[in-house]
Amino acid sequence: MTTDSSTLDATAVASLARQVVEAHPPGQVPLVELMGAWYDAGLAWVHFPVGRGGLDAPRALQPVANRVMRDAGGPEPRTVNTIGYGIVAGTIVRHVPPVTANRLLRPLATGEELWCQLFSEPGAGSDLAGLATRAVRDGEGWRVNGQKVWTSLAHKSAWAVLLARTDPDVPKHQGLTYFIVEMTTPGIEVRPLRQITGRASFNEVFLDEVYVPDTQRLGDVGAGWFVANSTLGDERTSLGDRVAARSSGTIADALELWTARPERHTPVLRDRLARLWLRAESQRLTADRARVSAVRGNPGPESAIIKLVGSELAQSVYEFCLDLLGPEAALVDTYSPDAPDDVSGPTALQRKFLRSRATTLEGGTSEIMRNVIGERVLKLPQEIRNDKGKPWKEIPR
Ligand SMILES: Cc1cc2nc3c(=O)[nH]c(=O)nc-3n(C[C@H](O)[C@H](O)[C@H](O)COP(=O)(O)OP(=O)(O)OC[C@H]3O[C@@H](n4cnc5c(N)ncnc54)[C@H](O)[C@@H]3O)c2cc1C
Repeated sequence: MTTDSSTLDATAVASLARQVVEAHPPGQVPLVELMGAWYDAGLAWVHFPVGRGGLDAPRALQPVANRVMRDAGGPEPRTVNTIGYGIVAGTIVRHVPPVTANRLLRPLATGEELWCQLFSEPGAGSDLAGLATRAVRDGEGWRVNGQKVWTSLAHKSAWAVLLARTDPDVPKHQGLTYFIVEMTTPGIEVRPLRQITGRASFNEVFLDEVYVPDTQRLGDVGAGWFVANSTLGDERTSLGDRVAARSSGTIADALELWTARPERHTPVLRDRLARLWLRAESQRLTADRARVSAVRGNPGPESAIIKLVGSELAQSVYEFCLDLLGPEAALVDTYSPDAPDDVSGPTALQRKFLRSRATTLEGGTSEIMRNVIGERVLKLPQEIRNDKGKPWKEIPR
Protein backbone atom coordinates (compact mmCIF):
# COMPACT_ATOMS: atom_id res chain seq x y z
CA MET A 1 0.00 0.00 0.00
CA THR A 2 1.59 3.34 -1.03
CA THR A 3 0.33 6.76 -0.10
CA ASP A 4 1.13 10.26 -1.28
CA SER A 5 1.49 12.18 2.00
CA SER A 6 1.05 15.56 0.25
CA THR A 7 -2.61 14.77 -0.47
CA LEU A 8 -3.51 13.37 2.92
CA ASP A 9 -6.65 14.55 4.59
CA ALA A 10 -9.19 12.94 6.91
CA THR A 11 -10.94 11.19 4.01
CA ALA A 12 -7.69 9.70 2.71
CA VAL A 13 -6.58 8.51 6.17
CA ALA A 14 -9.98 6.97 6.89
CA SER A 15 -9.92 5.21 3.52
CA LEU A 16 -6.40 3.87 4.16
CA ALA A 17 -7.44 2.65 7.62
CA ARG A 18 -10.51 0.94 6.14
CA GLN A 19 -8.30 -0.86 3.59
CA VAL A 20 -6.16 -2.21 6.45
CA VAL A 21 -9.04 -3.44 8.61
CA GLU A 22 -10.80 -4.97 5.60
CA ALA A 23 -7.66 -6.86 4.56
CA HIS A 24 -6.89 -7.89 8.18
CA PRO A 25 -10.25 -8.07 9.98
CA PRO A 26 -9.87 -7.49 13.75
CA GLY A 27 -10.79 -10.60 15.70
CA GLN A 28 -10.30 -12.85 12.66
CA VAL A 29 -6.54 -12.41 12.19
CA PRO A 30 -3.91 -12.47 14.96
CA LEU A 31 -3.46 -9.10 16.67
CA VAL A 32 0.21 -9.03 15.63
CA GLU A 33 -0.77 -9.30 11.96
CA LEU A 34 -3.37 -6.54 12.26
CA MET A 35 -1.04 -4.17 14.10
CA GLY A 36 1.84 -4.99 11.73
CA ALA A 37 -0.31 -4.01 8.75
CA TRP A 38 -1.42 -0.89 10.65
CA TYR A 39 2.24 0.06 11.21
CA ASP A 40 3.28 -0.70 7.62
CA ALA A 41 0.44 1.49 6.32
CA GLY A 42 1.76 4.39 8.42
CA LEU A 43 -1.24 4.47 10.73
CA ALA A 44 0.46 3.71 14.06
CA TRP A 45 1.51 7.37 14.48
CA VAL A 46 0.38 9.26 11.35
CA HIS A 47 2.68 12.21 12.18
CA PHE A 48 5.84 10.02 12.17
CA PRO A 49 8.01 9.75 9.03
CA VAL A 50 7.07 7.35 6.25
CA GLY A 51 8.83 4.01 6.90
CA ARG A 52 8.70 4.48 10.67
CA GLY A 53 5.03 3.82 11.31
CA GLY A 54 3.83 7.17 9.97
CA LEU A 55 2.72 9.16 6.96
CA ASP A 56 4.31 12.57 7.64
CA ALA A 57 0.72 13.71 8.13
CA PRO A 58 -0.71 16.14 10.71
CA ARG A 59 -1.15 14.55 14.12
CA ALA A 60 -4.75 15.76 14.14
CA LEU A 61 -5.57 12.91 11.72
CA GLN A 62 -4.66 10.15 14.21
CA PRO A 63 -8.12 10.03 15.87
CA VAL A 64 -9.63 9.52 12.39
CA ALA A 65 -7.58 6.35 11.88
CA ASN A 66 -8.16 5.12 15.44
CA ARG A 67 -11.93 5.54 15.06
CA VAL A 68 -11.94 3.29 11.98
CA MET A 69 -10.00 0.67 13.96
CA ARG A 70 -12.45 0.88 16.88
CA ASP A 71 -15.52 0.77 14.64
CA ALA A 72 -14.15 -2.40 13.02
CA GLY A 73 -13.87 -4.02 16.45
CA GLY A 74 -10.10 -3.56 16.78
CA PRO A 75 -8.18 -2.29 19.83
CA GLU A 76 -7.40 1.29 20.77
CA PRO A 77 -3.84 1.03 19.35
CA ARG A 78 -2.09 2.44 22.44
CA THR A 79 -3.51 -0.35 24.63
CA VAL A 80 -1.38 -2.85 22.69
CA ASN A 81 1.78 -1.44 24.30
CA THR A 82 0.81 1.33 26.70
CA ILE A 83 4.22 2.68 27.61
CA GLY A 84 5.68 1.93 24.19
CA TYR A 85 3.03 3.85 22.26
CA GLY A 86 2.47 6.77 24.58
CA ILE A 87 5.90 7.40 26.06
CA VAL A 88 8.69 5.71 24.11
CA ALA A 89 7.88 5.84 20.38
CA GLY A 90 8.32 9.60 19.91
CA THR A 91 11.63 9.54 21.76
CA ILE A 92 12.89 6.76 19.47
CA VAL A 93 11.91 8.67 16.34
CA ARG A 94 13.70 11.80 17.53
CA HIS A 95 16.88 10.19 18.84
CA VAL A 96 17.52 6.87 17.07
CA PRO A 97 18.87 6.54 13.47
CA PRO A 98 16.06 5.58 11.02
CA VAL A 99 17.07 1.94 10.37
CA THR A 100 17.41 1.11 14.07
CA ALA A 101 14.25 3.08 14.81
CA ASN A 102 12.29 0.95 12.34
CA ARG A 103 13.73 -2.23 13.89
CA LEU A 104 12.51 -1.04 17.32
CA LEU A 105 9.22 0.56 16.35
CA ARG A 106 7.57 -2.24 14.38
CA PRO A 107 7.59 -4.85 17.20
CA LEU A 108 6.65 -2.04 19.60
CA ALA A 109 3.61 -1.23 17.47
CA THR A 110 2.53 -4.86 17.16
CA GLY A 111 2.93 -5.53 20.88
CA GLU A 112 5.54 -8.24 20.25
CA GLU A 113 8.09 -6.25 22.26
CA LEU A 114 6.63 -4.46 25.27
CA TRP A 115 8.43 -1.49 26.83
CA CYS A 116 8.74 -0.25 30.38
CA GLN A 117 10.02 2.92 31.99
CA LEU A 118 12.93 2.66 34.44
CA PHE A 119 12.64 6.14 35.95
CA SER A 120 11.34 6.13 39.56
CA GLU A 121 13.54 4.98 42.42
CA PRO A 122 12.95 4.39 46.13
CA GLY A 123 14.33 7.90 46.84
CA ALA A 124 13.27 9.60 43.61
CA GLY A 125 9.64 9.68 42.48
CA SER A 126 8.22 13.18 42.62
CA ASP A 127 11.79 14.44 42.72
CA LEU A 128 12.80 12.34 39.71
CA ALA A 129 15.84 14.49 38.90
CA GLY A 130 17.35 13.44 42.24
CA LEU A 131 17.73 9.80 41.14
CA ALA A 132 20.82 7.84 42.18
CA THR A 133 21.22 4.96 39.67
CA ARG A 134 24.73 5.43 38.31
CA ALA A 135 26.03 4.85 34.79
CA VAL A 136 29.83 4.91 34.51
CA ARG A 137 31.84 4.81 31.28
CA ASP A 138 33.24 1.38 30.40
CA GLY A 139 34.96 1.12 27.01
CA GLU A 140 32.40 1.43 24.23
CA GLY A 141 29.54 1.53 26.70
CA TRP A 142 28.38 2.10 30.25
CA ARG A 143 28.13 0.07 33.49
CA VAL A 144 24.87 0.70 35.31
CA ASN A 145 24.21 0.05 39.00
CA GLY A 146 21.16 0.97 41.03
CA GLN A 147 17.55 0.23 41.87
CA LYS A 148 14.31 1.27 40.23
CA VAL A 149 10.81 0.80 41.62
CA TRP A 150 7.12 0.85 40.59
CA THR A 151 8.21 -0.20 37.09
CA SER A 152 4.96 -1.14 35.35
CA LEU A 153 5.22 -4.17 33.05
CA ALA A 154 8.95 -4.73 33.68
CA HIS A 155 8.18 -8.45 34.12
CA LYS A 156 6.79 -8.64 30.58
CA SER A 157 8.95 -6.12 28.77
CA ALA A 158 11.62 -6.74 26.16
CA TRP A 159 12.98 -3.19 26.36
CA ALA A 160 13.16 -0.28 28.80
CA VAL A 161 13.92 3.39 28.74
CA LEU A 162 16.34 4.19 31.54
CA LEU A 163 17.36 7.43 33.20
CA ALA A 164 20.71 7.23 35.04
CA ARG A 165 23.19 9.60 36.66
CA THR A 166 26.38 9.99 34.67
CA ASP A 167 27.80 13.02 36.50
CA PRO A 168 27.27 13.48 40.27
CA ASP A 169 29.41 16.65 40.34
CA VAL A 170 26.91 18.93 38.60
CA PRO A 171 23.40 20.08 39.68
CA LYS A 172 20.88 17.24 39.63
CA HIS A 173 19.11 18.05 36.36
CA GLN A 174 22.38 18.34 34.43
CA GLY A 175 24.04 15.04 35.35
CA LEU A 176 21.51 12.62 33.86
CA THR A 177 21.70 10.54 30.66
CA TYR A 178 18.96 8.63 28.84
CA PHE A 179 19.41 5.05 27.56
CA ILE A 180 17.42 2.20 26.11
CA VAL A 181 18.15 -1.20 27.60
CA GLU A 182 17.22 -4.77 26.71
CA MET A 183 15.52 -6.30 29.73
CA THR A 184 17.32 -9.62 29.13
CA THR A 185 20.74 -7.97 29.69
CA PRO A 186 22.71 -9.85 32.39
CA GLY A 187 22.54 -8.08 35.76
CA ILE A 188 18.88 -7.01 35.52
CA GLU A 189 16.66 -8.60 38.16
CA VAL A 190 12.92 -7.97 38.17
CA ARG A 191 10.93 -8.59 41.37
CA PRO A 192 7.14 -8.21 41.13
CA LEU A 193 5.28 -6.10 43.70
CA ARG A 194 1.81 -7.18 44.69
CA GLN A 195 -0.79 -4.44 44.73
CA ILE A 196 -4.01 -3.78 46.64
CA THR A 197 -5.91 -5.25 43.66
CA GLY A 198 -4.15 -8.59 44.19
CA ARG A 199 -2.36 -8.22 40.86
CA ALA A 200 1.37 -7.82 40.40
CA SER A 201 1.69 -5.48 37.43
CA PHE A 202 4.58 -3.41 38.64
CA ASN A 203 8.00 -4.29 39.97
CA GLU A 204 11.24 -3.49 41.68
CA VAL A 205 14.13 -3.65 39.20
CA PHE A 206 17.71 -4.14 40.38
CA LEU A 207 20.59 -3.23 38.08
CA ASP A 208 23.89 -4.86 38.98
CA GLU A 209 26.87 -4.12 36.69
CA VAL A 210 24.53 -3.95 33.68
CA TYR A 211 26.45 -3.23 30.46
CA VAL A 212 24.72 -0.82 28.06
CA PRO A 213 26.45 -0.07 24.73
CA ASP A 214 26.92 3.62 23.99
CA THR A 215 24.87 3.11 20.80
CA GLN A 216 21.88 2.74 23.14
CA ARG A 217 22.32 6.24 24.53
CA LEU A 218 19.58 8.63 23.38
CA GLY A 219 20.65 12.27 23.24
CA ASP A 220 23.89 13.74 24.55
CA VAL A 221 25.66 12.68 27.73
CA GLY A 222 24.17 14.90 30.46
CA ALA A 223 21.07 15.72 28.38
CA GLY A 224 18.90 13.00 29.94
CA TRP A 225 16.56 15.45 31.65
CA PHE A 226 15.90 17.20 28.36
CA VAL A 227 15.20 13.87 26.60
CA ALA A 228 13.00 12.70 29.49
CA ASN A 229 11.00 15.91 29.33
CA SER A 230 10.39 15.46 25.62
CA THR A 231 9.17 11.95 26.49
CA LEU A 232 6.79 13.38 29.08
CA GLY A 233 5.72 16.03 26.55
CA ASP A 234 4.71 13.21 24.18
CA GLU A 235 2.58 11.75 26.94
CA ARG A 236 0.76 15.07 27.26
CA THR A 237 0.46 15.62 23.52
CA SER A 238 -1.00 12.14 23.08
CA LEU A 239 -4.08 13.61 24.77
CA GLY A 240 -4.88 14.82 21.28
CA ASP A 241 -5.32 11.26 20.03
CA ARG A 242 -8.39 10.67 22.16
CA VAL A 243 -11.75 12.39 21.94
CA ALA A 244 -14.09 11.44 24.77
CA ALA A 245 -17.84 11.34 24.26
CA ARG A 246 -20.21 12.88 26.83
CA SER A 247 -20.95 10.50 29.74
CA SER A 248 -18.09 8.19 28.73
CA GLY A 249 -15.08 7.09 30.79
CA THR A 250 -15.34 6.42 34.52
CA ILE A 251 -18.68 8.25 34.90
CA ALA A 252 -20.23 5.74 32.46
CA ASP A 253 -19.69 3.02 35.08
CA ALA A 254 -21.63 5.01 37.67
CA LEU A 255 -24.48 5.77 35.26
CA GLU A 256 -24.76 2.13 34.21
CA LEU A 257 -24.85 0.91 37.79
CA TRP A 258 -27.44 3.56 38.71
CA THR A 259 -29.71 2.32 35.90
CA ALA A 260 -29.21 -1.32 36.88
CA ARG A 261 -29.98 -0.88 40.61
CA PRO A 262 -33.18 1.22 40.98
CA GLU A 263 -33.97 -0.54 44.28
CA ARG A 264 -30.94 1.13 45.89
CA HIS A 265 -31.70 4.71 44.78
CA THR A 266 -31.86 7.37 47.49
CA PRO A 267 -32.11 11.17 47.14
CA VAL A 268 -28.62 11.51 48.64
CA LEU A 269 -27.07 9.13 46.11
CA ARG A 270 -28.97 10.85 43.29
CA ASP A 271 -27.49 14.18 44.37
CA ARG A 272 -23.98 12.67 44.51
CA LEU A 273 -24.34 11.21 41.03
CA ALA A 274 -25.48 14.55 39.60
CA ARG A 275 -22.47 16.30 41.13
CA LEU A 276 -20.11 13.62 39.79
CA TRP A 277 -21.59 13.96 36.31
CA LEU A 278 -21.01 17.73 36.40
CA ARG A 279 -17.37 17.16 37.40
CA ALA A 280 -16.98 14.59 34.60
CA GLU A 281 -18.47 16.91 32.01
CA SER A 282 -16.31 19.89 32.99
CA GLN A 283 -13.26 17.62 32.87
CA ARG A 284 -14.28 16.37 29.41
CA LEU A 285 -14.66 19.91 28.08
CA THR A 286 -11.27 20.92 29.53
CA ALA A 287 -9.72 17.82 27.97
CA ASP A 288 -11.21 18.76 24.62
CA ARG A 289 -9.72 22.24 24.93
CA ALA A 290 -6.33 20.67 25.76
CA ARG A 291 -6.71 18.36 22.78
CA VAL A 292 -7.12 21.29 20.42
CA SER A 293 -3.98 23.04 21.71
CA ALA A 294 -2.03 19.75 21.78
CA VAL A 295 -2.97 19.01 18.18
CA ARG A 296 -1.71 22.48 17.25
CA GLY A 297 1.64 21.44 18.78
CA ASN A 298 1.20 23.53 21.89
CA PRO A 299 0.31 21.26 24.82
CA GLY A 300 -0.74 23.65 27.55
CA PRO A 301 -1.08 23.54 31.33
CA GLU A 302 -4.51 21.89 30.93
CA SER A 303 -2.75 18.51 30.98
CA ALA A 304 -1.91 18.98 34.70
CA ILE A 305 -5.51 20.03 35.38
CA ILE A 306 -6.89 17.02 33.48
CA LYS A 307 -4.56 14.64 35.32
CA LEU A 308 -5.52 16.11 38.70
CA VAL A 309 -9.26 16.30 38.11
CA GLY A 310 -9.53 13.00 36.19
CA SER A 311 -7.66 10.95 38.78
CA GLU A 312 -9.57 12.40 41.75
CA LEU A 313 -12.84 12.00 39.85
CA ALA A 314 -12.08 8.30 39.20
CA GLN A 315 -11.68 7.74 42.94
CA SER A 316 -14.95 9.57 43.75
CA VAL A 317 -16.84 7.67 41.02
CA TYR A 318 -15.80 4.25 42.33
CA GLU A 319 -16.46 5.27 45.95
CA PHE A 320 -19.95 6.19 44.79
CA CYS A 321 -20.33 2.84 42.98
CA LEU A 322 -19.38 0.92 46.11
CA ASP A 323 -21.85 2.91 48.23
CA LEU A 324 -24.55 2.19 45.66
CA LEU A 325 -23.70 -1.52 45.65
CA GLY A 326 -24.07 -1.75 49.42
CA PRO A 327 -22.87 -4.96 51.13
CA GLU A 328 -22.07 -6.53 47.74
CA ALA A 329 -19.20 -4.05 47.50
CA ALA A 330 -17.19 -6.26 49.85
CA LEU A 331 -16.97 -9.08 47.27
CA VAL A 332 -14.02 -9.48 44.90
CA ASP A 333 -14.01 -12.49 42.56
CA THR A 334 -10.33 -12.64 41.57
CA TYR A 335 -7.45 -11.82 43.84
CA SER A 336 -4.53 -13.23 41.93
CA PRO A 337 -1.13 -11.80 40.93
CA ASP A 338 -1.83 -13.11 37.41
CA ALA A 339 -5.30 -11.60 37.07
CA PRO A 340 -5.86 -10.35 33.53
CA ASP A 341 -5.00 -6.77 32.65
CA ASP A 342 -8.53 -5.77 31.70
CA VAL A 343 -10.73 -5.00 34.66
CA SER A 344 -13.81 -6.96 33.65
CA GLY A 345 -15.91 -9.68 35.28
CA PRO A 346 -18.69 -9.79 37.88
CA THR A 347 -16.86 -7.70 40.49
CA ALA A 348 -15.17 -5.33 38.08
CA LEU A 349 -16.37 -2.23 39.96
CA GLN A 350 -14.85 -3.45 43.20
CA ARG A 351 -11.53 -4.00 41.44
CA LYS A 352 -11.75 -0.66 39.65
CA PHE A 353 -12.27 0.95 43.06
CA LEU A 354 -9.09 -0.70 44.34
CA ARG A 355 -7.14 0.21 41.18
CA SER A 356 -8.31 3.83 41.36
CA ARG A 357 -6.28 4.37 44.54
CA ALA A 358 -3.19 4.50 42.27
CA THR A 359 -4.52 7.14 39.88
CA THR A 360 -3.54 10.06 42.11
CA LEU A 361 0.04 8.75 42.34
CA GLU A 362 1.03 7.36 38.92
CA GLY A 363 2.29 9.86 36.36
CA GLY A 364 2.74 12.54 39.06
CA THR A 365 0.88 12.84 42.36
CA SER A 366 -2.00 15.22 42.99
CA GLU A 367 0.24 17.37 45.21
CA ILE A 368 2.75 17.71 42.37
CA MET A 369 -0.04 18.52 39.90
CA ARG A 370 -1.24 21.25 42.29
CA ASN A 371 2.30 22.62 42.46
CA VAL A 372 2.50 22.68 38.65
CA ILE A 373 -0.87 24.44 38.37
CA GLY A 374 0.06 26.87 41.13
CA GLU A 375 3.36 27.82 39.54
CA ARG A 376 2.65 27.60 35.81
CA VAL A 377 -1.04 28.45 35.56
CA LEU A 378 -1.74 30.69 38.56
CA LYS A 379 1.82 32.12 38.57
CA LEU A 380 2.11 31.72 42.35
CA PRO A 381 5.58 31.99 43.92
CA GLN A 382 7.75 28.92 43.31
CA GLU A 383 8.25 26.24 45.95
CA ILE A 384 11.40 26.81 48.02
CA ARG A 385 14.14 24.67 46.43
CA ASN A 386 17.20 24.55 48.62
CA ASP A 387 19.08 22.18 46.27
CA LYS A 388 19.03 24.62 43.34
CA GLY A 389 22.45 24.95 41.67
CA LYS A 390 24.12 22.54 44.14
CA PRO A 391 26.14 19.58 42.81
CA TRP A 392 23.97 16.45 43.18
CA LYS A 393 26.52 14.71 45.41
CA GLU A 394 26.22 17.53 48.00
CA ILE A 395 22.43 17.24 48.34
CA PRO A 396 21.53 15.39 51.56
CA ARG A 397 19.54 12.24 50.76
C1 LIG B 1 0.31 2.26 39.43
C2 LIG B 1 1.64 2.96 39.31
C3 LIG B 1 2.43 2.71 38.22
C4 LIG B 1 3.69 3.33 38.11
N1 LIG B 1 4.47 3.03 37.03
C5 LIG B 1 5.71 3.56 36.92
C6 LIG B 1 6.59 3.18 35.86
O1 LIG B 1 6.24 2.38 35.01
N2 LIG B 1 7.84 3.70 35.83
C7 LIG B 1 8.27 4.60 36.75
O2 LIG B 1 9.40 5.06 36.63
N3 LIG B 1 7.47 4.98 37.80
C8 LIG B 1 6.20 4.47 37.90
N4 LIG B 1 5.39 4.82 38.95
C9 LIG B 1 5.92 5.69 39.99
C10 LIG B 1 5.28 7.07 40.08
O3 LIG B 1 5.76 7.89 39.03
C11 LIG B 1 5.61 7.62 41.46
O4 LIG B 1 4.92 6.82 42.40
C12 LIG B 1 5.21 9.05 41.64
O5 LIG B 1 5.97 9.90 40.83
C13 LIG B 1 5.37 9.50 43.11
O6 LIG B 1 6.65 9.20 43.57
P1 LIG B 1 6.87 8.39 44.95
O7 LIG B 1 5.97 7.19 44.92
O8 LIG B 1 8.33 8.17 45.10
O9 LIG B 1 6.32 9.34 46.07
P2 LIG B 1 7.11 10.54 46.75
O10 LIG B 1 7.71 11.40 45.70
O11 LIG B 1 8.03 9.99 47.80
O12 LIG B 1 5.94 11.33 47.44
C14 LIG B 1 5.38 10.93 48.71
C15 LIG B 1 4.28 11.92 49.06
O13 LIG B 1 4.86 13.24 49.22
C16 LIG B 1 4.21 14.16 48.36
N5 LIG B 1 5.20 15.12 47.83
C17 LIG B 1 6.41 14.84 47.30
N6 LIG B 1 7.04 15.96 46.89
C18 LIG B 1 6.18 16.98 47.17
C19 LIG B 1 6.25 18.39 46.98
N7 LIG B 1 7.32 18.98 46.42
N8 LIG B 1 5.18 19.14 47.37
C20 LIG B 1 4.08 18.55 47.95
N9 LIG B 1 3.98 17.22 48.16
C21 LIG B 1 5.00 16.46 47.78
C22 LIG B 1 3.65 13.32 47.23
O14 LIG B 1 2.57 13.97 46.58
C23 LIG B 1 3.23 12.06 47.98
O15 LIG B 1 1.96 12.23 48.55
C24 LIG B 1 4.12 4.23 39.10
C25 LIG B 1 3.30 4.49 40.20
C26 LIG B 1 2.08 3.86 40.33
C27 LIG B 1 1.23 4.16 41.53
